[in-house]
Amino acid sequence: MRVECAWCRKYLRDVGPVSESVSHGICETCRDKLMRSVPVSIPRLIETFDFPVLLVDNDVVIHGANSAAVAILGRRVAVIGNLKGGDAISCENAAGEGGCGRSPHCAGCVLRNSVAATHADGRPRQNMVSRHRLDGDTGRRDVAVRISTEKVGEMVLLMVEDLVEEAAPR
Ligand SMILES: [Zn+2]
Repeated sequence: MRVECAWCRKYLRDVGPVSESVSHGICETCRDKLMRSVPVSIPRLIETFDFPVLLVDNDVVIHGANSAAVAILGRRVAVIGNLKGGDAISCENAAGEGGCGRSPHCAGCVLRNSVAATHADGRPRQNMVSRHRLDGDTGRRDVAVRISTEKVGEMVLLMVEDLVEEAAPR
């Protein structure tokens, strides 16, 4: 699988088996540009992505969302500091007491663990598949979310590369 810069589309590396889908990272040049820019402009920069991107902290609290993310996840992801990743996708585990990250199932959450790992060691994670049972307005459904993460300052870019319906819930 080809990994390319989410901004300039430059080839970065290959990960995993050959496939037609693409995973995303950030090249050195774009990272430098990003780090030189004042933090307030990061939301504007993620706007240039043509796929859903969330700016999250190490507890997956959403601090920014681009239009593509708003189009798929709804206007509420545009509200800063109010919602966690699990709330954004209506993960059933986020509906419980304590919210996203506090249920017994959350320890195994690939999405949360990828964000936390990237935040901790500064290294990107690519092509991670996180499975969630969603329980939102559109009813109960199982999805596989394919994501990549990149650390930017004290935040993590959560790039949502695919959201695929799985077999109907039992
Ligand atoms: Zn680039």
